[in-house]
Formats: sequence, structure tokens, C-alpha cells
Amino acid sequence: MVARRVTALPLGQVRLSLHKTPDMKPQDMLIIDGSMGEGGGQILRSALALSLCLGQSFRIFNIRAARKKPGLRAQHLVAVNAAAAIGEADVHGAIQGSQQLEFVPHGIKPGEYCFDIGTAGSTTLVLQTILLALLTADAPSHITLQGGTHNPLAPPFDFFEQAFVPLINCMGPTLKTRLKRPGFFPVGGGLVEVTIEPVSALLPLYLLERGVLLSQCAWAMVSHLPEHIAERELNVIGQQLGLPTSALEVRQANAKGPGNAVTILIESEHVTEVFVGIGERGIRAEAVAEGVVTAVRRYLAAGVPVGEYLADQLLLPLALAGGDGFITLRPTQHTTTNIDVLEKFMGKRLVCEELGHDRWRISC
Ligand code: AMP
Repeated sequence: MVARRVTALPLGQVRLSLHKTPDMKPQDMLIIDGSMGEGGGQILRSALALSLCLGQSFRIFNIRAARKKPGLRAQHLVAVNAAAAIGEADVHGAIQGSQQLEFVPHGIKPGEYCFDIGTAGSTTLVLQTILLALLTADAPSHITLQGGTHNPLAPPFDFFEQAFVPLINCMGPTLKTRLKRPGFFPVGGGLVEVTIEPVSALLPLYLLERGVLLSQCAWAMVSHLPEHIAERELNVIGQQLGLPTSALEVRQANAKGPGNAVTILIESEHVTEVFVGIGERGIRAEAVAEGVVTAVRRYLAAGVPVGEYLADQLLLPLALAGGDGFITLRPTQHTTTNIDVLEKFMGKRLVCEELGHDRWRISC
């Protein structure tokens, strides 16, 4: 198999049309306002994912209007180009900074692909754009991604691999991920490999109980930074969550640039949740760890299976596959906005129901 390579810069094999294609009827085109709700990149990524899965063309305007630098940035552009390659789509507006885009998919083409963001932009966000369509494609896929793997404000690789992927695998497909090299802001250069064995249809999603708490552990990764950063993070976590030293691990990584990420994994009977803090210049290691501990404490106190990030990321699989849904923390604006995008594409609205303090149910 020959890998198709897609980057943020020249548009390579992606079929682009600067004009409407003759077969494109205006009434077929769904119109999405990218400034709705949360107003970030997720609206675009969800629209691309749903467009591929449902074969629905769309036009989006006001892309990332609520962000400091609105419009398409490298990571979003690669997400668009990746979706276009896999969906053999006609695309108009896929240029850096563009706030408008038209996307007309023509099918799903599984296979071998390589997506290089070219910056530290998030590889997992690009992956989530194309993943759903490939989970039910008619052949396996092998995807290589280069860019950031541990970014603030995006799913860190450890969360993706240990929390998101197992739930997707419970829905039928076999998704395997491998972190070959981490990538941190600003250098990037992380390398992720994914293989996807698809199924004809996803099984419904049920995540109504967390079950018994089985184990808790934490690891802190440093690349080209002093090891005491990781040790100080793990000290805070060990003390505040009462974890023994056997549950705490310092990991040395060899990324292309310096970076630090600290991860707490909470394994329960029915679900594994993962909480990650990304080290930043000017923020003390202790403060990074305390932020993660706060998120873990909230999750443990609420007794829910699904944390706030997993919640917005499970909505598309839930809506496509059906099921009783899941119980989670109070919905974030990412969650409510994703529900709005889903309603636009599917004509049905997921229901958010408050069950108690910080305990909500989201169902079809
Ligand atoms: P956007 O801000 O629109 O680019 O979307 C960001 C996405 O990253 C959302 O789906 C969030 O759930 C996800 N995300 C942000 N921070 C984390 C985190 N610490 N762990 C897991 N997912 C995250």
C-alpha cells in the first residue's frame, strides 16, 4: 500500500475546487455558523467528521470566531485536508486563516495515510476528525501523524490512548495506537501511529455506572528538562491523593524539544478515565500537578463514569451508534456546542438531563 501524505502547506493530493462543483446543489449544502456556542475548532472538526460519516456537504462560516486568532490554523488545515483525502472531497476555502470553508465528500477511502501538521498542533484532534468515518469503512487503515501529542487544550495522547480508545473498541472496532515520539509546544515533531480494523456498524454506547474503583496511578514525563520537575509533580499527587510510591513513575522521553506532562489514571470497573496536566514555562510543577489533582477529586466525588473532556468527545459516536448514553459531570460549553452541531447534521437532539449535583445524563 502506498501512503498518502497530507501536510498543512501545499494541498498535495487533496482535490480542491475553487468553484462549486456542477453536482453541488445549494439546497444540499448544510450551513454551519462556526461562531455558535463555544466558537472554536471543535465545530469544524465535528462538522467534518459528521460530513464524512453521513455523506453530507456543508459550508461553514465564522470559523473559530471566538478564538484570539480566528480562522484555519495549521492543525485545522491538516484536519480539513485529512478529511478531504479520506472523503475524496471537493473543498473550497482550505487556506491558512480562512474563516469559510465548503466541503463536499464523495465517499470514504480507507488505507494508509500520513498527516504532518508541521507545527506542534494536536495530532489527536486531527485524528478525531477522520476516525469515526474509518471505524466503519470497508477496509482497515493505518495512519501516521506528526505534530503535537501533549498539548494544552487538546486531548493528550495518554488520555486518547487509555480513556477514549478503549471505549471506542467497546463499540466494535479494533483501534490500536502507538506513541513513537512525544511532541510538545513549540517544537512539535511528535509521532503517532494508529491502526484501525473497522466494523460494519458501531455498537451502541452505555456508560451509566463507573463501578468499583480498581486502581489509581500517575506518571510524569519530562523531555530535555530536569527530572526534579517530574518528581515534584508526583510528590504533590502522591501526598494529595494518598498514592504509594509504587503507583508513581517518572518517565524520561526524547522528544524533539523540551516538554513535561503529568498524567493520573483512574481505573474503575466499567471505565478508565485519564487526567493530564501539561507543564508550561512560568508555571510551577506543583501548580501543574495541583490542577490535575483538582480535576481528579471532582471526578471521584461526583461518582460519574465520564469526565468532562471524554463527554464532549463521546457525543458523535453516541449519536451515530445510539444507546443509553452516559452519565457525566455538568456539561461544558464544548459539550453543548457539539450537541448543537449534531442536531444540525442529524436532525435529532441529544438530551442532557440533570440528575443531581455535578451528575448529568446525556442520551439519544
Ligand atoms: P477546541 O477548543 O474547540 O479546539 O476543542 C478542544 C478539544 O480538546 C475538546 O474536545 C476537549 O474535550 C479536548 N480537550 C481539551 N483539554 C483536554 C484534556 N486535558 N484532556 C482531554 N481532552 C481535552
